[in-house]
Amino acid sequence: MQVPLLDLKAQYATIKDDILSAVSEVLETQRCIGGPKVDEFEKAVAEVCDCKYAVGTSSGTDAILATLMALDIGEGDEVITTPYTFFATAGCIARTGAKPVFVDIDPKTYNIDPAGIEAVITDNTKAIMPVHLFGQICDMDPIMAIAGTYGLAVIEDACQSVTSTYKGKKACSIGTAGCLSFFPSKNLGGIGDGGMVVTNDEKLYKQLQYLRNHGMEAQYVHKKVGGNFRLDPIQAAALLVKLPHLDEWSQGRRDNAAYYDKKFAGTCVQTPYISPDCKSIFNQYVIRVPKRDALLEHLRASDIGCNIYYPIPLHLQDCFADLNYKQGDFPVSEQAAKETIALPIYPELTDEMKDHVVKTVLDFLE
Ligand SMILES: *Cc1c(COP(=O)(O)O)cnc(C)c1O
Repeated sequence: MQVPLLDLKAQYATIKDDILSAVSEVLETQRCIGGPKVDEFEKAVAEVCDCKYAVGTSSGTDAILATLMALDIGEGDEVITTPYTFFATAGCIARTGAKPVFVDIDPKTYNIDPAGIEAVITDNTKAIMPVHLFGQICDMDPIMAIAGTYGLAVIEDACQSVTSTYKGKKACSIGTAGCLSFFPSKNLGGIGDGGMVVTNDEKLYKQLQYLRNHGMEAQYVHKKVGGNFRLDPIQAAALLVKLPHLDEWSQGRRDNAAYYDKKFAGTCVQTPYISPDCKSIFNQYVIRVPKRDALLEHLRASDIGCNIYYPIPLHLQDCFADLNYKQGDFPVSEQAAKETIALPIYPELTDEMKDHVVKTVLDFLE
């Protein structure tokens, strides 16, 4: 039996007609940039995030970049984040000219450990960028308290955690702004690239609206340098079809996670830890195991999809050599990078598929 890490065709089969007619509607109008579909989708996403404003962007990466630019973060500034994340988080900080400053993660949640933040704050620190990894929000209360004390902005990288909650609050509604990605493998995935910045800050919202369009406030009048960070209406139309299914899809992932948790209980497999403060959307189901690399080989040879998120922590990437970090600086992240592996968790998995994954993992490890 083959079990892919993600099967987007299974999801597409359930909404194909709606997607085709929504896309066709945009094509018939030939309004291919901006317009009512983008406006409608922004309003809908702001609402599900319990926020006032949302600005569609060309990707999650551009959502992060545009937010940093809107907050005037650049040369000479420092932004605190985690080394255990997708590259875009720190890549965007570096692209503004600012310096990414890393803080190690909590070994249970894999999210930034708030206890390490205060020690790295300097006069140049402008913002903290917590990343809500794998679908679970960071421990935000201590992060917001530190940000308040030092007057720092908080940019939530919620690219893996749309509609996830922390103490009843939605991702993106806790910090200064939150960034979402609609990359196809995210819980709310487009038919190509897309992203969004969500915020309650009206000034930031207005800045983002023109920054995503080359900083153009009135036609051909530019007060600030922006970029082409716009969300396509074809993406907005497809995502508007998918959004009403998001809760049911995320619940399917949570149910699958509970199923795996039960089957792996009492074995050498360490299942994901979800804080009682959080409701995860399980963008990934990441286990920690002995003999991780051998298991990866074995699963791949057995036609079971799996992947490592992430094999090289960002402080050890060549492109950040000038930050002068070294092996051993963030031991919790480095160990997680060696011991964790993501298993298939998408909602359309059948019980037979999950049983096969569990059996293949346990037969190999035990
Ligand atoms: C996917 C992702 C991004 C980037 O989103 P794109 O839409 O692929 O540009 C940023 N941060 C995290 C944590 C992500 O998972």
